[in-house]
Amino acid sequence: MTARPQIKINTAPQLDIFSGAASSPDHKKHDKPKGSGNKTDKRRFVAPNPNAITLGNSNLKEHLELTGQKTPFTVASLLDEQDWSDFEQRYASEGRPPYSPRNMMGLILYGIMQGITSLRTLERLARVDLGCMWVTGGIFPDHAIIGRFINMHSKSMAGAFFESLTRAVLKKTNSDGSCLAGDGTVIEAACSSYNLMKQEAAQQAHETAQKQADNHPDCPENKKKLEMASSTLEAVIERNEKRKKNGKSGSAVVSPTEPEAVVQKMKRGRGYTTGYKPSVLANNKRVVLAQAVDPTNETTVVSPMLDQSMQITGKPVDEMLLDAGYFNDEVISTSLERDISLLCPEGKEPGKPKESKKFQKGHFYYDETNDVYRCPAGKELVLIGQIKGSIRTKEQKIYGNGPCEGCPLKDQCTTNKKGRRIKRYAMDDAKDALRQVMQHPKAKKSFSKRKAMVEPVFAYLRDIQGLNRFRRKGLEKVKLEFGLHLLAYNLSRAVKASFHAIFRYNRILWLYFERYRPFDRKWGSWERDPVKRHSLQRKVLHWV
Ligand code: SF4
Repeated sequence: MTARPQIKINTAPQLDIFSGAASSPDHKKHDKPKGSGNKTDKRRFVAPNPNAITLGNSNLKEHLELTGQKTPFTVASLLDEQDWSDFEQRYASEGRPPYSPRNMMGLILYGIMQGITSLRTLERLARVDLGCMWVTGGIFPDHAIIGRFINMHSKSMAGAFFESLTRAVLKKTNSDGSCLAGDGTVIEAACSSYNLMKQEAAQQAHETAQKQADNHPDCPENKKKLEMASSTLEAVIERNEKRKKNGKSGSAVVSPTEPEAVVQKMKRGRGYTTGYKPSVLANNKRVVLAQAVDPTNETTVVSPMLDQSMQITGKPVDEMLLDAGYFNDEVISTSLERDISLLCPEGKEPGKPKESKKFQKGHFYYDETNDVYRCPAGKELVLIGQIKGSIRTKEQKIYGNGPCEGCPLKDQCTTNKKGRRIKRYAMDDAKDALRQVMQHPKAKKSFSKRKAMVEPVFAYLRDIQGLNRFRRKGLEKVKLEFGLHLLAYNLSRAVKASFHAIFRYNRILWLYFERYRPFDRKWGSWERDPVKRHSLQRKVLHWV
């Protein structure tokens, strides 16, 4: 029997694509499993130098500057300012060096800024986009590596990294978090809305999955199916109980592949579908300082978002501008506890259609001294009853017994034969105060800023970054996806701020040359010569 020939593998360090790369892989240490090394120091990463990338005779930096691309420079400089130790400590100090987290984040965020969220398209972007090469240093990770990176660092991305990057963007945009405007929307979930299940169907699916798992206990696929069926059944039972408690009719439906997504009404009259409700708080430069995702409710996340904003700026919020959807007890009491000046108009009365012409509760004035309500006809509604608080109802007083029979305004007021009834809850004092504040012209003027501050955020996310539907399934993954979109969005605000500064300084220069024509002779035809103009603009950039 002849001995098998032995092939000697070259274990010398591989040549980098870019000369002068910051690190080169050391293949001698590859035998040890990942994670076996000391995770405290000596970590090495593949982080090539973008200055070494050339295009013909010019380098990449010159090419990007000549073609007027500012986005890659702003993104790269903001990423360079960040502390990456939280990301880096997750890698072993031995073995083949991974791509640097700074460069991987650069690729992901730059891609989202271009409206790319697919991992395969990101992989392609890294190879073909020159701006992306400047941000990443020219690394070419494949889609699987990008996906693993996102899963590995999901907690840091949505938490500490969001805060530190937003701090840098605030500095760049020269703005703060003293006045914030809030808004929420509904974004469709990744699951299909064609295979939703009612409780009976979910129960049947669970029984089938249980039988299959009992017949083949070692099959991992059957176990996974049983877990999914159990979570679907739990979710549909919980939602049905909630509906019963709130006195709603009908039964809930749940997606078997994504039980956390809730069937709800989409904005802009696009019907009902499974989705989530993401919310944001943005400042006057439209930088998002806080973000959250809840399956159905945008008011419950106001308090955690205020905490997040304070974590970023280190200061409490002074003023908060919210739309009528936030006019409820929880938001008002949160702003009272935190001593925030809240501006929020009253929306429609719960349960009443938006286009209702009937008098709402806000049209009735509460006379605290006499403990009566005055109606729009100037009549008094007196206290006629009191209901104690329980699991289903809040503590309330009921006012009525007005002279409604024969009232000319009755058609606009009530259809109740016994006349109009008004319920007063514990938080109604604060609501009355807020209603009065919102009547003041100064409050109206301040509130008029809200639309311009926060409404374009979701428009940008939908139209430019393509967030019309979540690509990931489950609440935690949806939170991560939304967090990544907002990181990219905040970066685009910083880029915008740089553009404004450059435009301002360029305009000053242009006026200067227009005013002092004799300098034309000294500078020659700088306006027509792109190289001279470019060198001048580079100086301006340096000043900025
Ligand atoms: S219907 Fe009754 S409560 Fe309404 S405006 Fe007339 S008197 Fe007042």
